[in-house]
Amino acid sequence: MENQKYKKLEAYLSEILHRLQNQSDLLRFKDIAICITSEKTKNKNAQYNFPSDTIILGLEYLKKYAQKGEDAVAAIISHELSHKIFREKYSISGGKEEEIFADNYGLILCKKAGYNTNISLW
Ligand SMILES: [Zn+2]
Repeated sequence: MENQKYKKLEAYLSEILHRLQNQSDLLRFKDIAICITSEKTKNKNAQYNFPSDTIILGLEYLKKYAQKGEDAVAAIISHELSHKIFREKYSISGGKEEEIFADNYGLILCKKAGYNTNISLW
């Protein structure tokens, strides 16, 4: 696919991913990948793909956050990672409740990993 094109960027994002992953006992040893796509997926700018344990990030979406710095990129990755934590904990898909959990737990992961969470993401 487009793997080659974004390899360096994905390697960099993986470092952020691992730094965040290491803050959670549930995730520390999980094999989670990160993948960039330039395809416009419907309404989804970032998503956690459960069957493959891959965080998929839309290129344009990623660019928008990357302009705000690594703290902002860590915020979107930690949100997606928190979906995984939710499913590991509760073994169900939680709809809106899961989104709120992901927002809150994402912040916790970022803080633990030493990222600045006092940034404006919007
Ligand atoms: Zn979400």
